[in-house]
Amino acid sequence: MASDLLSQVRAQEPALRTIDWALESGRVHHAYLFVGPDGVGKELAAFGLAQALVCERRGGDAGPSLFGAAEKPPVRACGTCSACTRTVPREDIRRPLHPDVVVVERGLYSAQQIGRDSDEKQDISIHQVRKLVLARGAFAPHEGRAKVFVIRRAEELNLSAANALLKTLEEPGERTHFILLSSQPEALLPTILSRTQRVRFAPLPDDVVADLLAAQGVEAARAKDVARLAGGSVENGMLLADPDESERRERFVEGALAATAAPTIEAVLALAESAKKDKDHLPSNVAALASALAARAADSARAGRPDAEALAIRGGFALTALEHLAANGAAQLVIEAMLMRMRAV
Ligand SMILES: [Zn+2]
Repeated sequence: MASDLLSQVRAQEPALRTIDWALESGRVHHAYLFVGPDGVGKELAAFGLAQALVCERRGGDAGPSLFGAAEKPPVRACGTCSACTRTVPREDIRRPLHPDVVVVERGLYSAQQIGRDSDEKQDISIHQVRKLVLARGAFAPHEGRAKVFVIRRAEELNLSAANALLKTLEEPGERTHFILLSSQPEALLPTILSRTQRVRFAPLPDDVVADLLAAQGVEAARAKDVARLAGGSVENGMLLADPDESERRERFVEGALAATAAPTIEAVLALAESAKKDKDHLPSNVAALASALAARAADSARAGRPDAEALAIRGGFALTALEHLAANGAAQLVIEAMLMRMRAV
């Protein structure tokens, strides 16, 4: 199957217009920031743009001047040449094989690969930026067309990593491009924001989410059901459709409700402690708790029971916790504070 990744991006016309225009005019910016919720196509578009820049048939990012006036170059990647094929990220290693398309992501490389003593648990370290970005800065692209760095969850760059990157963003090498991906651009340094061109990706329409879920093997009726709850994100949809994931979320919700009602705070402390270790799943767990409490509050109100208001207030505390997590609050503290406030209602 030919895979020009840009043509697989769905329902993101404004973003695609920006990218196509840049390719067509030969004015691809050296640093983009693709912003929007996770699971709406930011990453697919980033690798699609990278494909177009390294494609063997397109002629790199040297612009239309390579071609005579009569012959316009293709805007997008051919999708079938060796460079295009090697730019598609491999599922097993979560990155492409193409040596000029480099992924930066917290925890993607072993400590040894990036010259650290321990794995990256909290953030993208300066070691990774040095090893993957700065060390390559001085060299021309291996295959001569372009060097593209794709930075997943760019808000996880720690301060020294972000500062190290800044210099390169200011004066990038020739034919070097950065594509930063983020669902939380407000957590990025203002200096990074000001040096990148922002391209917005919107939540997907429910029917597109349902289509994409079905294409990934989710049974059609179920895909339609979960798409309504997925907030326009295929990633959320996949989590909702995954039975193991729903079991995990249910366990968290039950644990939190029990901790809120327990006579002592031991269960609160234990749940907060385990939250620290399960940082990646925490937002979806807490979101499930918020919607469980909202549903219970609504049931209670309908039945005229007196606990409706308390349940709604607790649901509000879960939403606040979700905001604190999104603003990079420390997992353990956020969960502990949330449960203690729920107990006090
Ligand atoms: Zn190609």
